[in-house]
Amino acid sequence: MNGLPRSGDGSPEPSCVLLSGGVGGARMAAGLQEALPPGRLSVLGNTGDDFELLGLRVCPDLDTLLYTLAGRAHPDQGWGLQNETWQCMHALEELGAPCWFQLGDRDLATHLVRTEALKQGRSLTGVTADLARALGLKTRVLPMCDEAVGTRLRTREGLLDFQDYFVRRGQRDRVLEVEFAGIRQARATREVLEALAQAELVVLAPSNPFVSIAPILAVPGLGQALAQSAARKIAVSPIVGGRALKGPAAAMLESMGHEVSALGVARLYSGVVDEFVLDLEDEHLAPAVASLGMMPRVLPTVMSGPRERLALARALIRP
Ligand code: GDP
Ligand code: CA
Repeated sequence: MNGLPRSGDGSPEPSCVLLSGGVGGARMAAGLQEALPPGRLSVLGNTGDDFELLGLRVCPDLDTLLYTLAGRAHPDQGWGLQNETWQCMHALEELGAPCWFQLGDRDLATHLVRTEALKQGRSLTGVTADLARALGLKTRVLPMCDEAVGTRLRTREGLLDFQDYFVRRGQRDRVLEVEFAGIRQARATREVLEALAQAELVVLAPSNPFVSIAPILAVPGLGQALAQSAARKIAVSPIVGGRALKGPAAAMLESMGHEVSALGVARLYSGVVDEFVLDLEDEHLAPAVASLGMMPRVLPTVMSGPRERLALARALIRP
């Protein structure tokens, strides 16, 4: 049909894999989920931000994905649930417990269920699938791996754990290097490898390249599977007009010696993807992207609402 990629079942919409962090990734995921028939999207979520708090396993990017895809995410906060209450947090405060990471009452239920299932021996992939099912999702949300991997940032203050840098210290430290503790022991899961093998379209979300996409690509076996996949591969720039819409991506580009622009991001993804999506505001960078060997595509990439994210997703699906 009009040269559109075809799925094995004869439908014109491709099966799609999205590599994703939290906020920027979840917006892209929601757009793709709406643009594709149910069940055609698999999202590989970063778990390098995961940590343990009060004995609970917290997976911020997986939860942002689950909540956003289920239509339950807080509308503008970028994390957590809508209509959340904070009784437990207030009680924790009274007890003098650590309160630098906000845990809403309903959000806590997710962490309790996950922690218990992991304790019973269920894999993170399994428990995430259970949570997705309980939320009524048809989209697969796949952790990048089942092993614990911890993103650490080298700064002048020393090596910081991701949440220490991101939440507790408010991203104020200049990041000199990023490493992923435990990554060598990690392995791409069967579910991730199957999703990549079946994909006709792979999208790198407009997520932070250093702390959201890089850890996923660093999982042993995953990058190779992506390289071997015959899918069309597209990345969307998280940098628009030289700025990050949210978070430290622009600051990290600068502090690690890259150009602070969509072109700086394109250079990081050269050889990984075939197409690179620039925002309308960055059209002038298209020839430089083309010279990296990637097809530049200039689109409105700012997903301010459901309409914008659906329009972007539809444009990505169409070759
Ligand atoms: P985190 O895990 O919550 O930090 O989220 P991600 O890594 O997935 O996303 C953070 C990045 O998303 C930032 O660099 C933002 O610039 C980018 N971002 C957020 N929303 C949008 C959007 O609507 N369009 C584009 N192009 N980038 C976005
Ligand atoms: Ca994150």
